[in-house]
Amino acid sequence: MYLGLSIENSVINAAILNDCGDFVWQDSHSLDHDKISNLLEICGALVANAAKAHPNLSQSIAVSAQGGFIGQPSPPDGLKCLAGTDLKANLQASLGRAVALASPGQALALYESRFGAAKDSAVACALYLDNHVFGGVTFGQKLWRGANRIVGAWGHTPLAWPVPHELDGRDCWCGRTGCLDCFLSLGGLETEYHNITQTRLDIKAIAAAADANDLVASSVLQVLDDRIGRTTAMIINMFDPDVIILGGRLAGLDRLYQNVPRKWPGYLLVERNETKLQKANQDVFTLAKGAACLAIDPAI
Ligand SMILES: [Zn+2]
Repeated sequence: MYLGLSIENSVINAAILNDCGDFVWQDSHSLDHDKISNLLEICGALVANAAKAHPNLSQSIAVSAQGGFIGQPSPPDGLKCLAGTDLKANLQASLGRAVALASPGQALALYESRFGAAKDSAVACALYLDNHVFGGVTFGQKLWRGANRIVGAWGHTPLAWPVPHELDGRDCWCGRTGCLDCFLSLGGLETEYHNITQTRLDIKAIAAAADANDLVASSVLQVLDDRIGRTTAMIINMFDPDVIILGGRLAGLDRLYQNVPRKWPGYLLVERNETKLQKANQDVFTLAKGAACLAIDPAI
């Protein structure tokens, strides 16, 4: 029995994967305060509930989080308590268990390669597009973690094949400029619309406006198609995966699955490509389930 947790802003989700490959338990709990003591308390309660429901729980657990990785900056609009925190050390001390940490992109890649759209794929890449941009790569249904545990950190690589105006004034929270996180995050999309209209709409409202023939909204989404097209083309040139999975709230835009692959011929070295673009499972427990898959791996 393997337990995974996902810390998703103020909610922590939990899922258990059994030895037969079935998810047999899930639970979630909201934080009361943005304090590390409260976060550890909630994680402890979820682990206790899991161990009560399934006493033969593995000693090691895994956690998906957007911040709290020692030596890495944390998103400023995420949990403040994760900034500058060694989340792994705190969890291990608090829970008395070995803990593996993964980014949402890594947890997503692992879930999809074991149970989702990439379960038959030798090489799969995941791109998690939500408040921030994360990625992950699996080879043979196994997460490639890397020497620094940052495989898939495309959110902080530059936008591929930029046009001149895309090189200006894109300050990223990581301290650099021009990162993908500035272009492909929810905030990046909303800023794009706001800069033209001085009106701030969320992604659902922008999509609805485009459907109602709002020319600015349509244009912003066409640019998004192209930017995700360039980003995924760069990933194909780098890893040549069988499938690229899009997750997070931006991945809910159905137009992407038709429009993005149409961009690829302009950027790939081959005229016909076999890589598929697929939408991730939209279940709210997907990242917790991906973390549970990581808990099986002894390479904590
Ligand atoms: Zn950055």
